[in-house]
Amino acid sequence: MTDAHVVILPGDGIGPEVLESAILVLQKAAQMGSIDLRLEHGWIGGSALDLCGEPIFPETLQACKEAHAVLLGAVGGPKWENNPGHLRPEAGLLQLRKEMGVYANLRPVVARPALAPFTPYRPEILQGVDLLMVRELTGGIYFGEKGRDPDSAFDVCRYHRHEIERIARVAGRLAQQRRKKLCSIDKANVMETSRLWRQVVTEVMEREFPDVQLEHVLVDAAAMYLTLKPAQFDVLLTENMFGDILSDQASTLAGSLGLLPSASLGEQLGLYEPIHGSAPDIAGRGIANPIGTILSVAMMLRLSLHQPDLADAVERAVEKVLATGPLTPDLERYHPSHTRELTTRVCSALGAE
Ligand code: NAD
Repeated sequence: MTDAHVVILPGDGIGPEVLESAILVLQKAAQMGSIDLRLEHGWIGGSALDLCGEPIFPETLQACKEAHAVLLGAVGGPKWENNPGHLRPEAGLLQLRKEMGVYANLRPVVARPALAPFTPYRPEILQGVDLLMVRELTGGIYFGEKGRDPDSAFDVCRYHRHEIERIARVAGRLAQQRRKKLCSIDKANVMETSRLWRQVVTEVMEREFPDVQLEHVLVDAAAMYLTLKPAQFDVLLTENMFGDILSDQASTLAGSLGLLPSASLGEQLGLYEPIHGSAPDIAGRGIANPIGTILSVAMMLRLSLHQPDLADAVERAVEKVLATGPLTPDLERYHPSHTRELTTRVCSALGAE
């Protein structure tokens, strides 16, 4: 029997609702794979601020560094919106990512024909869309020096060569396993960090991944191509903030923000979370789409728990449920399903594997 220690961080808003679903699926998968699953709950975000005045419990941070993997819901909400920067829920998440050293954020986006009617796109635009965003997660403007006085404010964007080299290597390796196309996104016509980014990515790719076709695209043009010709992309490599923005845009190709999973990886540790936020507008109503979090469990099974067959089984179960519906109201306008109902159907489909 394999041992798996997973730290569960529900967070705020719909975080606990989608994590409840993900835990059920993880437990079912663990049962099927004879995994001895040990779940440890921790506190992050607004809920941690309310309990101890810090955006992440120090014990939680320590547990995350010792676990095989961490599964997170989402953080944030209007209650803490006016807190100073270091006492905002998001500060806990940034600290967690930094201290776990998870610098590579992988965000796959697939357009499924069955969901095309729920998107704003014509079916022919969505045909063949299967892309992977590789976002640098622990550097850039989100982590630079910040300052504010009554009349001005600043956020410093800094990238070091080694931070660009290591994320370029992750993207290069992933591109080699896919269609061997890498699109690096920057703003090299304006930003100095982007000029370094472009230079270092080019060097790494020419030296270590000559079989991967590399192109550089400015972020503003990339936003347009993601809408007009999304199927042309295979792996997209971006710095931290551009990736944050473009992946929400890319979620429209899938049909809903609630469908997209992510894995954040470092040298050793893995943090898994849906790409969406705490969705305060729908929190507590039992209608959040749990699929992004359930697919994050699949990524965790594959990348941190080394259970590729179980990961495939979870993904097949999700595909069956997405193909047959009914789905949650973010997709389905008439007679939608609830979070728990949808989760039960994923668990049954998984059990039938
Ligand atoms: P959001 O992602 O929470 O919500 C954007 C829209 O998408 C909302 O209409 C919401 O209802 C919908 N949505 C999101 N997830 C959904 C799901 N699973 N099912 C159905 N609909 C879903 O972004 P926001 O409204 O800009 O931010 C709300 C809060 O979340 C803020 O406090 C923000 O800072 C925080 N946030 C946290 C994370 C994170 O924890 N990683 C990421 C983004 C935003």
